[in-house]
This record gives sequence, C-alpha cells and structure tokens, in this order.
Amino acid sequence: MSEEGHMPAKTMSPDEFRETGYQHIDWIASYFERVRDLPVLPNVAPGELAARLPVSAPECGEPIEQILKDFDYSIFPGLTLWNHPRFFAWFANSSSPPSILAELLIAAMNVNVMLWKSSPSATELEQVTLSWLRQWLQLSESFFGIIYDTASVGVLQALGAAREWKDPECRVKGMKPGLTVYTSEHTHSSSEKAAITLGFGQENVRKIGVDQRFRMRPELLEEAIVSDLEGGKTPCCVVATVGTTSTASIDPVPEIASIAERYGIWLHVDAAYGGPAAIVPEMRHILDGAERAHSLILNPHKCLFVSMDCSVLYTRFPDVFKRASSLSAEYLKTGEDSLVVNYNDYGVQLGRRFRALKLWYVMRYYGHQGVIALLRESLRLAQFLAARIQENPDLELSAPVVFSLVCFRHKGSNGVNQRTMQAVNETGHAFLSHTVLDGQFVLRFAIGNMQTNEDDIQSTWDLIARTAAREAAAEEAVAAQS
Ligand code: PLP
Repeated sequence: MSEEGHMPAKTMSPDEFRETGYQHIDWIASYFERVRDLPVLPNVAPGELAARLPVSAPECGEPIEQILKDFDYSIFPGLTLWNHPRFFAWFANSSSPPSILAELLIAAMNVNVMLWKSSPSATELEQVTLSWLRQWLQLSESFFGIIYDTASVGVLQALGAAREWKDPECRVKGMKPGLTVYTSEHTHSSSEKAAITLGFGQENVRKIGVDQRFRMRPELLEEAIVSDLEGGKTPCCVVATVGTTSTASIDPVPEIASIAERYGIWLHVDAAYGGPAAIVPEMRHILDGAERAHSLILNPHKCLFVSMDCSVLYTRFPDVFKRASSLSAEYLKTGEDSLVVNYNDYGVQLGRRFRALKLWYVMRYYGHQGVIALLRESLRLAQFLAARIQENPDLELSAPVVFSLVCFRHKGSNGVNQRTMQAVNETGHAFLSHTVLDGQFVLRFAIGNMQTNEDDIQSTWDLIARTAAREAAAEEAVAAQS
C-alpha cells in the first residue's frame, strides 16, 4: 500500500508472462491429448456454474496460476466442447493449432484494422490472404474480399449494399417502402434477421418453396418476383444458399442468377457452410454460378480450421458497400486515404480485429494440398457414415449427402428419434443436433473436426443404432400393452 492507502498498479513482467504463458500452452496441449476421453456435453443444470462463482469481482488482483486453476476446475467442466472429435452438432468445426497460436499474436499486437494507417500490414495481409483464398476457390479477380466477424453480420452488410443499389436515395432520405427480399424456406434465419434490422419489414421477405431435395424452386422465385412487380413492390435482393443449415442442400445458383439478372436484383450467395468445400477440386462445381453473384459469403470459422470468429465476404461491387456504409469523421482522415483500402468503409464496424492473421497462419501451415486433404477426409467420413445408415433396414437417409453433413432418422416415430438423440447426447460420448423436415424429426450428424477419425464415427454410429433399436422396442412394448 502507498502512504495514501492506494494499492500500487499491478503489472505482469515479461518473465512472469513467459512462465505462465508456458503453463497455458501446456494446458492447451494436454487438452488436445485427452480430449477424446472427455464428455462432449457438460452435465450441468442451468444456473449451477454461475452459483459457484463469487457474486462480485475481486478487490485485489489474484495470481494467474490460481485463475488458470479455477478455469480448469470451475469453468471448463461446464463448457460444451466444440473442439472435440465427436462434436457432431450444428456445424462441427475446428480451432486448429496454427489458428490458436495466431490468436495469441492477434491479442498481443491488439491492432485495430479500421484504417490502413491504423495498421498497414494488417490491412494488406487481409487483402493478400483473401486474394489467396479467392484463388483456391477459383473465383475471378473481380471479387474484392472483406472479413467480418460472422456471416450474420456479412449478410446484413450485403442487404445494406443491395438496398443502396436499388434505392440510392435511401442513405439520405431513408428507405422507400416496398423493397422485397427473396429467400427459400431453408435459408438461414440471419438473412431474415438482417431484413428486419434494416427495415425491409418481415412482410417483405418472401420464403420461396423448395423441391424434394430442399433446393429453392426457381420457377416459384420468378412467380413471386412478377407478382411483387405487379403489386408495385421493388424486388431488391435474392439470397441463394450453397449448403443450407438443415440439410446442406444447394440452391440452383445458375438459374437463380439468370432470374436475378433478368429483373435487376442483387444476388447474394450464402456459402457460409458449404463454400470452403469448393477448394476440393472435385467439389468446385458447388460454386457454379457464384461468379455471377453480387456478394458471396463463406465462413473459415466453420469449415476452414480457423477459430471463431472469421467470416469472409466477396463482392464484385465494393463501391456499393462503401456507398452504403462509409462515413468518415475528421479524426479518421489520413494522408493515404486516396491510395489505400480503409476496411471500416465497408461495414458498420469501426474497430476491427486482426482476423486475417489466423487465416494466413492456417493457409500457410497446411498449404493448399493440406487443406484439400483435410476437407476430403471429412467428406469421406460422411460417406462412410451414410453407407452404415443405408446398410441398416430400420434407418434411412433424410437428405442427399453432398458435404460432410448426414441427415437421417429411424423409420419409427418422431418420439423414437427425439429420445434417441437425447439418450446419445446424455452419454457424453458424442453430441448430435436435429432438424425437422416435412414434419419428421431428423438427426443431424455434422462432421467437421480435423481430429475426427473412423473410430469416432463407428463408435457413435454403433451407439445411435443400439439406442434407436432400444427406443423403438420400448415404444412398441408400450403400444402393445395399451
Ligand atoms: N448461413 C448458414 C448457411 C449457416 O448455417 C449459418 C450458421 O450456421 C449462418 C449463415 C450464420 O453464420 P454465423 O454464425 O457466422 O453468423
């Protein structure tokens, strides 16, 4: 304490940082060694963890070793382990070792990639890395890339650009009524959320019907556009998806692009999940037609081994994004503005994390061929699982398996499928999620963690098949008694 009774400010010396830093790296390395033996889902009740923690923050600083111990003892057991080889829920993914190491540097440098001046090499690395990724995706040079945190924010910006394009007075005078947005019944909710946030109005979002393979039906899209035009509306944007959330279906992008071009509508392609698979040469066809999109999103934090969060948007119309979003205050003006990209001009965010570094680390560490091999392995494992399902007469595939997502169900009731999922998840061995297709409860088995191997798939499949048979027999026994 000082003479006035004040605590001196606490600092961490470089030596203390080095020592405790090694402890943290050791903890992470040992996590990777033992992760297969840990339950994927925590066995905790709502409020249980919060109740164990102090209600107020400490008055005086505590040793970092103690904080790490408390993380290990109190926080870690309550985490759902996304970075686990048997995490198969939603869209399974990987925070790879090179991405984790890059995150350390990102935090240490703490640069803000708002202006070129605020961190020249971070801005230029974003441009270079997104050009590399564009080449891996075989997209033309006319696509300019921007990193956002998530695809939800990216589609918000894309709809903002579409609105600017169709209604250029909007920026100054406010939005004219009757601008419409077209999605399918299977489009991710982030597009509708963006339309709500931007003031399109939920009534102006058309959910176009899908075919038996859950793909948007282009003839219904055109009918909806014509009907809106006749009703005095202004069709503004259509969102086509490559890899929908429920079943990973692929909308017919070339046909949708032709309609968008015919009626002068902005085409946004949501390839948040599916896009990275196009890096695999035999999967490139999934992006057919995407070169005609005004904007396109893919998420390296979903399928490209980059830690949450990192979402990439490509657009052939960066100036429209700029017109929609830029507003430079005096204090942000720099001498280089006419020569450089200032990324804050392309979105609502001023402060931006240095996300390009982790993408650069991953692309360099694995290389093009390494990334192809990793993606191919997930695709192979999905086919391996699909074959097991097809061998079992009591189970069926519920959607085509194009990516590394497998949707399937027991042929029994919804209750059997629901209880199967719950029972499997409660074992902690694996974590699956579900969807509902045409009123049927369907299990989703999403493969995407780079450590997942055939044993993980086989053991989880055995557990599912056993559990589904038991649940179906139990249901039959109850029905027989009544
Ligand atoms: N688009 C699709 C197809 C998705 O599946 C998801 C999320 O799973 C999103 C968009 C939203 O992604 P994010 O979490 O990056 O906002």
